[in-house]
Amino acid sequence: MVNNLKINKIKFEYLLKNIKPVEQTEDKQEITVDIDELTIDEKYKPYLKHFIKKTNANFNFRNSNEILRTLKINKLKKSKSKKYGATGYYNFYNNKIKIYIIDTIYHELFHAFTYHKTAENYFCGFNQGNDHLDIANSLDEGYTDLLTKRYFGIEINYMLEANIVSKIELMLGKEKMQSMYTSNDLMGLI
Ligand SMILES: [Zn+2]
Repeated sequence: MVNNLKINKIKFEYLLKNIKPVEQTEDKQEITVDIDELTIDEKYKPYLKHFIKKTNANFNFRNSNEILRTLKINKLKKSKSKKYGATGYYNFYNNKIKIYIIDTIYHELFHAFTYHKTAENYFCGFNQGNDHLDIANSLDEGYTDLLTKRYFGIEINYMLEANIVSKIELMLGKEKMQSMYTSNDLMGLI
């Protein structure tokens, strides 16, 4: 137990040193990309439009147009879904969402729309990292699920994480926390 605590303390200090601030999101970016013109499968377009409609007033996603222009959405095979133990995922290296269960699309779209990259680091909501480390992934999953439930009524999977994050949000306020999420402000959060 004591050993564990020591290790956690070292780990925590190491992580704190490595957390990078990221520049704040600029003025609201209007979505100019026409969803109907995108090459993604037609069946996903109504979900994409619904996501944008529901989030537009409350979120200032920093790279909406760039993300939309290259976004790919494909079906995840049942066997792969079982293998990964996931009903969907977002791969930011190729800006691709793969989903087995359609409802998962909103959670993955939050990941896609909160992705940001700098020369040294990647940022995805509150999650950030580089080739060597990955920070605050659980926190990001919890908050992403909390938002997916709030805006789209989808059941929470990351229950423990969402519970913890909801308490942080209670202290900060919804508006502030959502704004920190879109501007990848993990630094401000801790
Ligand atoms: Zn996720």
